[in-house]
Amino acid sequence: MRRRRAIYAGSFDPPTEGHLNIVRRGAKIFDEVIVAVAESTSKKYVFTTAERVALWKKLVGKERGVKVATFSGLLVNFAQRQGATAILRGLRNLTDFDYESTMAGMNRALSPQIEIVFLLTEPQYAHLSSSLIKEIVVLGGSVKGMVPPLVERELRKKLVGSRK
Ligand code: ADP
Repeated sequence: MRRRRAIYAGSFDPPTEGHLNIVRRGAKIFDEVIVAVAESTSKKYVFTTAERVALWKKLVGKERGVKVATFSGLLVNFAQRQGATAILRGLRNLTDFDYESTMAGMNRALSPQIEIVFLLTEPQYAHLSSSLIKEIVVLGGSVKGMVPPLVERELRKKLVGSRK
């Protein structure tokens, strides 16, 4: 039987509890979810591609049906090369919906055989975004419960130096 494989792509700078929730719920729907970490290009990331991959591997490396990879270029091309039938996306609010519906339309136009599957975020994660989380850490706030403890430690190392 053909395995149902979905791609969950993003910059994940860094991965949050909201991202993890989507991956884990996706793994219940699909035989395999590939977390596809966007390679750093012109965009300024706090974590390098290798670091973002390493974080994901520590977070989900042992979970059944979840794999971690990197990608660059068109997402639909990557999805096709991976033999995926779906692209998995998370939705937080209407702003996400607005952006995502245009993106989904474009991806469907490029590659009609790939379905775009949306999961609504759990309400407790609806306000989480990687960029806000970085800002909170820089300003000395706690992001406990927003990112896994490992991610919080790494964020502090990067953004606040070695100070506790
Ligand atoms: P990018 O902004 O580069 O597309 P992100 O790393 O911010 O990537 O997000 C990747 C995917 O995760 C997107 O589908 C996004 O909507 C979704 N996402 C981001 N934050 C959350 C969250 N808190 N809950 C659920 N889904 C989320």
